[in-house]
Amino acid sequence: MAENRTELNQIGEFGLIERIQKQFSLQNPTSVLGIGDDAAMIDAGQDYLLVTTDMLLEGIHFDLSYMPLQHLGYKAVAVNVSDIAAMNGKPEQITIGLGLSNRFSVEAIDALYSGIQAACENYKVDLVGGDTTASASGLVISITALGRVAKDKVARRSTAKNNDIICVTGDLGAAYMGLQVLEREKQVFLTNPEMQPDLENYEYLVGRQLKPEARMDIVHELAEKNIVPTSMIDISDGLASELMHLGRNSNLGVKIFEENVPIDSMTYETAIEFKLDPITCALNGGEDYELLFTISPADHEKLKNHPDIHFIGHMHSNTQQNVMVTKQQTIVPLKAQGWNHFKSFE
Ligand code: ADP
Ligand code: MG
Repeated sequence: MAENRTELNQIGEFGLIERIQKQFSLQNPTSVLGIGDDAAMIDAGQDYLLVTTDMLLEGIHFDLSYMPLQHLGYKAVAVNVSDIAAMNGKPEQITIGLGLSNRFSVEAIDALYSGIQAACENYKVDLVGGDTTASASGLVISITALGRVAKDKVARRSTAKNNDIICVTGDLGAAYMGLQVLEREKQVFLTNPEMQPDLENYEYLVGRQLKPEARMDIVHELAEKNIVPTSMIDISDGLASELMHLGRNSNLGVKIFEENVPIDSMTYETAIEFKLDPITCALNGGEDYELLFTISPADHEKLKNHPDIHFIGHMHSNTQQNVMVTKQQTIVPLKAQGWNHFKSFE
């Protein structure tokens, strides 16, 4: 047996998903799109029903020493809603799978669910079921979200066209820098519990890490302006990684310009303070939950004055060239670093 053993970190998360995908073919005509996008698409008559699952594990995705349970509940819903948004859909229902140990009190679970409730109200989704079980390894929250989109409005990862303009919402790298700040303050606290955490100057970054929002506002605005993105993905693993998904799935190359990548000044300054390159944080820092999408050049006029949508580059026909033009006008290849969770098994 030993000679047949392949370590998970040899193929990585994306490799593993591809491997699973290859082993299954869709049997039902209602299963329009299976594994490989932000959500699956199920034929529901006039609309597509969208289905997506995201799981958060204690010790991997969150640390309860700085993540309040209320925020965690909110975030667990928001990251699922974000995947529905990434299909240009509207979320409608969620179910929640919960793994718990007796380390948690009833009041702690109340706090978790008050965050879940706040997110349900904000995104107008209904909690319709789930499952609860004992867990030996801390808190586990797995949420499945169901959403809906009109058939001619769906935005997949694979449908970008040559010369389409690449757009990104909000700003990038802040959630990653927020995590760096929280980790630093945790270490300070562990060394000297008398020290109070110094988070005051980093409020925006910490907020982006602890309380991300799904960009449903953008989905609604695009609908109002009668724009259907030619492709879309949400930024959970980092801009570079998501750009590569759009390029690869659409069978095109991507070219972006460093000067157009939106980075908040607090992200920029804090990255420098941590001796990190701000653009690397924006490209490879995860958990921004902004939307990355492409539009036809014909739609640029309708969006060009939008304060929160940035035009960072364009799609092109050379699939071998996924590049960024730096501020110094040099061309560097984009690398899909993403978050390799299997690193923790090494
Ligand atoms: P996202 O970052 O948008 O949540 P993922 O990278 O987690 O997307 O997943 C990519 C695709 O792989 C999705 O279609 C997802 O449903 C599918 N997927 C992920 N893990 C599994 C798994 N263990 N079995 C089957 N499909 C999976
Ligand atoms: Mg996604």
